[in-house]
Amino acid sequence: MSDCIFCKIANGEIPSATLYEDDNFRVILDMGPSRRGHSLILPKNHYENLFELPDDLKGEALKVASKVGTAMMKALPCEGVQIMQNNGLAAGQTVFHFHMHLIPGYESEGPGATWVPGTLADDDKVNIPEAIKAAL
Ligand code: 5GP
Ligand code: ZN
Repeated sequence: MSDCIFCKIANGEIPSATLYEDDNFRVILDMGPSRRGHSLILPKNHYENLFELPDDLKGEALKVASKVGTAMMKALPCEGVQIMQNNGLAAGQTVFHFHMHLIPGYESEGPGATWVPGTLADDDKVNIPEAIKAAL
């Protein structure tokens, strides 16, 4: 995609702070880090979200997350790594080129991404699994 910023970064047309690169992925520092070392895994080809990413690259993305996450724990160092991935505006996606967030967790600061837990309603326990299983 000619107007996609992450296509340009992933393919080296725009310089970035790169931590890792292979044939299919580039891992860069996020320009608005939630925690020191917050990084993004970008495929070099354009896929809007997880649902468009080919299955083999889904597997590869998780391998890259594991490899770079392990190095983050040693090198930063951090004590944990959160993996986040948003699909669609309603889910918080702001750049529509698939990416996976690697967010270091520091014992002194806690996790970078959290939510306020709600309550699981009794009817949802039945209705949601039924509806989702029917849609698979
Ligand atoms: P999303 O909200 O789509 O899951 O995450 C987008 C992320 O991309 C944000 O954390 C944002 O800081 C980061 N980001 C957006 N534009 C750029 C950019 O041009 N360079 C870098 N390094 N990060 C970017
Ligand atoms: Zn793109």
